[in-house]
Amino acid sequence: MEVFVDKTKCTGCDHCKDVCPVAVFEMYDKTAAEVNNDSAPENMKWKGTDDPAVVKEWGNVNDGHTHFKTKSVAINGPTCILCQACLIECEGACIHIKDDSGTTYQSTYK
Ligand code: SF4
Ligand code: SF4
Repeated sequence: MEVFVDKTKCTGCDHCKDVCPVAVFEMYDKTAAEVNNDSAPENMKWKGTDDPAVVKEWGNVNDGHTHFKTKSVAINGPTCILCQACLIECEGACIHIKDDSGTTYQSTYK
């Protein structure tokens, strides 16, 4: 299993880390080198700018979760059991999973 986070759209809400039963995700400060120290494709790397549409949707939401301070990094994708919990909970709709047959899955949060 391969798991990637499109970091430009990640709100840093922590939901993926909270719900994943096999510890696929780790949160890093946006300035930390570890944010891009994974196997995510180039277009999903952190380039220093949050997606404006995601900021507009989540920037002023005060629900007890910190937003836009950290980014989620899928450090442990091969352990994913495809329970899909993270796909349901991901605010930024920015988690991508590819199984061993090549079938892809994306966040469904709306
Ligand atoms: S689908 Fe995979 S990465 Fe997502 S919560 Fe389940 S085990 Fe973790
Ligand atoms: S659930 Fe989605 S938006 Fe929230 S920290 Fe994880 S990857 Fe980022």
